Amino acid sequence: MTERATARGAERHSLDGTTADVLICGASFAGLAVARELARCGASVLLIDRYELGDRATSACATPTPWLHALGLSAAIRQEIPNMRFTTPHGSVRYRLPWSWSAFDYRRLCQLLYAQSDARFHTAKVHGCVTPEDLVAGDVISVVTDRGVLRAPLVVDAMGWRRVLGQRGFQPPEAPLSRGLEVHPDGHGEDLEVWIERSLVRQGYGWRVPADGEARVGVASYAPADHVRRPTVELSERLGLDPVRYQGNWFPHRLRPAIENSIFFVGDSAGHCFPLSGEGIRTAFYFGIACGRELAAVLEQQRSRTEALKRYAAFSAEHARAYSIAAGLQRAIPVLPPRLLTAGLRLLRHPRLIDRSFGWYLDQAHPSFATPGSELPST
Ligand SMILES: Cc1cc2nc3c(=O)[nH]c(=O)nc-3n(C[C@H](O)[C@H](O)[C@H](O)COP(=O)(O)OP(=O)(O)OC[C@H]3O[C@@H](n4cnc5c(N)ncnc54)[C@H](O)[C@@H]3O)c2cc1C
Repeated sequence: MTERATARGAERHSLDGTTADVLICGASFAGLAVARELARCGASVLLIDRYELGDRATSACATPTPWLHALGLSAAIRQEIPNMRFTTPHGSVRYRLPWSWSAFDYRRLCQLLYAQSDARFHTAKVHGCVTPEDLVAGDVISVVTDRGVLRAPLVVDAMGWRRVLGQRGFQPPEAPLSRGLEVHPDGHGEDLEVWIERSLVRQGYGWRVPADGEARVGVASYAPADHVRRPTVELSERLGLDPVRYQGNWFPHRLRPAIENSIFFVGDSAGHCFPLSGEGIRTAFYFGIACGRELAAVLEQQRSRTEALKRYAAFSAEHARAYSIAAGLQRAIPVLPPRLLTAGLRLLRHPRLIDRSFGWYLDQAHPSFATPGSELPST
């Protein structure tokens, strides 16, 4: 049974001194995936976020449909999208993918994931200024929040790009982060559309994700110093859509250590968002499951926390090659002559090439990993 305990105003009592077996900080894709994986393991799991569950979407909320099916989240789907269209200044190419994307409802998805967990949820803001001395005392880790100090032997930072529980600051524009902004006007469409045009954004891309009556139109820049508001407005106006209902965020494009100071980092806090595409929901699920499995093994006394930390860190690092291939493409595509890029996109149109390239892409965090029993490779 899940227990929801979000409180406002005077009801927002102190949580100081609260303990749990597992403390998960951040209740979005990564944190909820960890919590879901710990369901039925009999442990006390405390999940906290500065906002109410599902309150603040920051993404276009498009992810491969097979992942949503694998996690039992089909009810959150607003629109399934089988095709992608890429547009450059020299033309447009449409691909039929070997798997489809789905645009989903963020709040509904968070609720569905939470309902599959046994976690207690509280709103609490974790402070970033935790000193190393405060952080780890013996086996129990103390986390300072605006509602008091919370303690657990197993702590997960799933709080996104800020990596709040990390020792070193992670601030744009110096940090390896991309920035994205989007608007959500009413609108329709069939394809997930991507624009690669330097006149729109120097290093990056624009997109339109159709979501059953809503168009999620945005622009991402790999160069953190470049602003994305003007191109976002420009793209939505070009499409005849009102630039309304803004949301945006930073997202990482480089892997970071998945453990630090006995804390597990998952999702954007570990740089798990994939470079080039900026796709970080599927990878947050994937690494969240991997982390949850290691935590479950500790709770079941199959291994120590130290062993679990080591195994999880090694699992994350094993993906470095795929991340560096994507990062290489992220650097190369913005400097390719646009005509060459267009020719390359046209070449890729062959179904065998599409199946191979998009198959490789899905393989890097494949939905079969969500099946219970699929194990982390032994390290
Ligand atoms: C405009 C835009 C569009 C995007 N579109 C897509 C897309 O369509 N598909 C895709 O796969 N990826 C997309 N991404 C990337 C994707 O959003 C991220 O990679 C993904 O959200 C990472 O999930 P996460 O759970 O690690 O972190 P987040 O989703 O960032 O969640 C972090 C959670 O931690 C909480 N938190 C943060 N700080 C604190 C604190 N101090 N105390 C307590 N709680 C805290 C936050 O409230 C939040 O709930 C997009 C990104 C942007 C910016």
